[in-house]
Amino acid sequence: MRIDVITIFPKIFNSIFEYGVISRAVKNNKIDLKVWDLRDFAYDKHRTVDDRPYGGGCGMVLKPEPIIRAIRKIKKEKDMINPWIIYLSPQGRLLEQKKVLELYKKDWLILICGRYEGIDERVMKFVDEEISVGNYILTGGEIPAMVLIDSVCRYVKGVIKRRDSKYKESFLSKFLDYPQYTRPYSYMNIKVPKILLSGNHKEIYLYRLKEAIRNTYRKKTELLTNLKLSKLEKKFLEEVIKEEDLK
Ligand code: SAM
Repeated sequence: MRIDVITIFPKIFNSIFEYGVISRAVKNNKIDLKVWDLRDFAYDKHRTVDDRPYGGGCGMVLKPEPIIRAIRKIKKEKDMINPWIIYLSPQGRLLEQKKVLELYKKDWLILICGRYEGIDERVMKFVDEEISVGNYILTGGEIPAMVLIDSVCRYVKGVIKRRDSKYKESFLSKFLDYPQYTRPYSYMNIKVPKILLSGNHKEIYLYRLKEAIRNTYRKKTELLTNLKLSKLEKKFLEEVIKEEDLK
């Protein structure tokens, strides 16, 4: 997968290149990630990329020409395929797991990071989609772009080794993840549930299923509405509701 990022702060992305799973994926050429400095596409010697808004108002707006110039230059790098161009914006569609799974199937993404009061509206003609990371306003699109890159790249082939881990996580199965434990067995006098040490895979599976249902009921009950449940899941849900309501 190829991802290009347009930003006025390219160094913010250094952490992606230096740490963790995504940096390894870049080094191993599983992801072709390139960050472009918007100022390199400015027309004047001061490398100006922003200006005052027409009609007045506070703050500055990112000018259209450098952004379009950057998109045109990036597109030339791979003439054969069309990139999917995303503007990270609080006005966009919320980045949820369903969207992540849609995006990882694209071969090529171009991410535009806004700053100040945003970007000149005329750039929107070139944008395929606006994506938001939440209903709040951040100072720039760089952190949202990193969130998008991190969530999408986990699904690119070869990025995460254990094939099943990413599919078993919260939101992908019907329920939130079950609680996880590791060593030590007893910590601050709290012990790991015995069943997890039993080696009985069927019992462990049943325990985890029920605890996943409990987690969902406790933390995001709304996910349980309109769910198609198996007989066993239904039974566990009924038990969980009784147990939790008795507390
Ligand atoms: N005036 C803009 C508005 O109300 O839509 C907000 C501008 S914001 C201060 C600056 C930039 O941060 C935006 O252009 C966008 O790229 C990014 N940004 C801010 N909040 C965001 C969010 N929740 N999701 C994605 N990008 C966001």
